[in-house]
Amino acid sequence: MSDSFDVVVIGAGPAGYPAAIRAGQNKLTVACVDEWKNSDGSAAFGGTCLNAGCIPSKALLESSELFQRAKDEFAVHGIVVGDVKLDLAAMQKRRASIVKTMTNGIMALFRANGVTGIHGHGRLLPGNRVQVTGPDGSERTLQARHVVLASGSSPVRLRAVPHDGVRIVDSWNALEFDAVPRRLGVIGAGVIGLELGSVWRRLGSEVTVLEALEQFLPMVDQTIAKEAQRHFKKQGLDIKLGAKVSSAEVKGDGVEVRYSDAAGDHALQVDKLVVAVGRRPFTDELLAEGTGVLLDDRGFIQVDEHCRTNAPDVWAVGDAVRGPMLAHKGKEEGVMVADLIAGHFGEVNYKVIPSVVYTAPEIAWVGQTEEQVKAGGRAYKVGTFPFAASGRARAMEAAQGMAKIVSAVDDDEVLGVHVIGPMAGELIAEAVLAMEYSASTEDLQRTIHAHPTLSEALHEAALAADKKAIDAINR
Ligand code: FAD
Ligand code: NAD
Repeated sequence: MSDSFDVVVIGAGPAGYPAAIRAGQNKLTVACVDEWKNSDGSAAFGGTCLNAGCIPSKALLESSELFQRAKDEFAVHGIVVGDVKLDLAAMQKRRASIVKTMTNGIMALFRANGVTGIHGHGRLLPGNRVQVTGPDGSERTLQARHVVLASGSSPVRLRAVPHDGVRIVDSWNALEFDAVPRRLGVIGAGVIGLELGSVWRRLGSEVTVLEALEQFLPMVDQTIAKEAQRHFKKQGLDIKLGAKVSSAEVKGDGVEVRYSDAAGDHALQVDKLVVAVGRRPFTDELLAEGTGVLLDDRGFIQVDEHCRTNAPDVWAVGDAVRGPMLAHKGKEEGVMVADLIAGHFGEVNYKVIPSVVYTAPEIAWVGQTEEQVKAGGRAYKVGTFPFAASGRARAMEAAQGMAKIVSAVDDDEVLGVHVIGPMAGELIAEAVLAMEYSASTEDLQRTIHAHPTLSEALHEAALAADKKAIDAINR
C-alpha cells in the first residue's frame, strides 16, 4: 500500500468521512485514519455520531417513544394491546445492530469512492506527514499534500463529579445501560440531557435533571422553550433550574448528588448519574511540535471561514473547530474542504444551520430567534400556527406544539423558523431551503402545501405573519 496521498484525513466521524469520500469523488488519492474503539474493543468508522451519539440515541428515542405510546396512547386509537412489557435487551440489540449496519456502510462507501480506511491513531508531524500508530502498536508515516483534521470532541467532565463509567457516567455509557435505573439523575438540561432523560423516563426511570442556568433552553426561541418545558414537566421530567452541583459521591448502590438552588441546599439520591454538561474539542496527541497549527483559548483548532488552519495545506473541520457541534455542520465543512482542495467551489452558509432536539414533541429551528431579532433592532413580524388546528396532527394524535416564523417587516425576508411538534426535525428542512434561497414570507405563503400534512403548519404560520391565516384565528 502506498504511503503517499493527496489527502490524509484524521478522524472518520461525520466531518472526516464525508471529507474523505468527496476527496475520492474528486479523483484525489485519500486515506482516512481513525482510532475509534467500541466498548467491545472493536474498531469502527463513524466517530461519535454513528457509534455513541446521533444514531444510537435516535434508535433508543424511537423505541422508547413507541413503548410509551403503546402503553398510554394506543387505547385512544381503539387498539387494545393488553399489558405492554419492556424487553430492554431486545431494544439494545436493535440499537447496536443499527449502529453496526451504519458503520459498516462507511467501509462500503470508502471502498466505492477509493478511500483507504486505516484504523489507528494519527498524529500530524511537520511537513504534512501523518504518523499512524496501529492498534497493534505498529507505526508508519503517511505523506500528504493536504491534511484534514477531524478529531471531534469528547464530553466535558466535572471535577466535583468523578466519572466511574458505572454509576457516574457520560452519554455513551447512558446509551448502553442494560437495566432501567429506578432513579436517574442528569446534570445539564441541554440537548443530551433532554434526549437521554426522555429515553429513560419513557422506559420507567424517575428522572431529575439539574441545570445550572436559571433559563431553560436559552438558545431556543423562548416561546418554543416555554412550550417545551410545559410538555417535559407533564411527561414527568423533573427539571430543576438554577441548580449548582457541588459534589457527587458513589454510596453503596447509588449516587448522592449535592446541589444548591434558590431554595437552599439539597441532597439527591439516584441509581445512575449522567453528566451532560457539554463537549470540548478533542485534540489530545494530535499535533506534534512544529506543525504550526494553533488552538484558540478554548482548545478549538483555529480556522478561517473555509476551515484553513494556520499551517499551509492543513485544514480542520467538525466539532474540533468553532461553530455548533452538529454532525451536519461537520459534514458540510468536510465536503467544502475536499472541494476546495480539488480546486472547486466550496462554501458553508453558517447562518442557515438547522438544529433539532429529538424529544417528543420534537424541537427544531433555523435562523434567528425572536429574542435575537428584537435585540438586533430590525422591525419584525411573527406568525404562529398551533398543531391543535392541524388535521394531520390530530389524526396522528400528536396535536401539541406550534410552528412560528419571524420575518422582517421591511423586505419580508424570513429571519427564523421555530417548530415544536410532531416531526419538527423533518419540517424544518423546508424552512432551511427557504432561507438558503433568501425566501420571503410571501414565497412561503404562495407555495402549495399538500393537505392534510404537517407541513401546512409552516404555510399557515407564514400566512399568520401577515394576519392571513385561514385555518386559525389571526391575532
Ligand atoms: P466525531 O464524531 O467525534 O469523530 C471524530 C473521530 O476522530 C472519532 O472517531 C475519533 O476516534 C477520531 N479521532 C480523534 N483523534 C484522532 C486521532 N488523533 N487519530 C485517529 N482518530 C482520531 N449531532 C447532530 O447533528 N444530531 C444529533 O442527533 C446528535 N446527537 C448526538 C447525541 C449524542 C449522545 C452525542 C454525544 C452527540 C450528538 N450529536 C448530534 C453531535 C455529533 O455527534 C457531533 O457533532 C459529531 O459527531 C461531530 O463530528 P466530528 O466528525 O467532528 O467528530
Ligand atoms: P449542551 O451545551 O447542549 O448542554 C449542556 C447543558 O449543561 C447546558 O444547559 C449548560 O447550562 C448545562 N451545564 C453546564 N455545566 C453545568 C453544571 N456544572 N451543572 C449543571 N448544568 C450545567 O451540551 P450537551 O447536551 O452535553 O451536548 C453536547 C453537544 O452535543 C451539543 O453541542 C449538541 O449540539 C450536541 N448534540 C446534539 C444533538 C442533536 O443535534 N439533537 C443531540 C445531542 C448532542
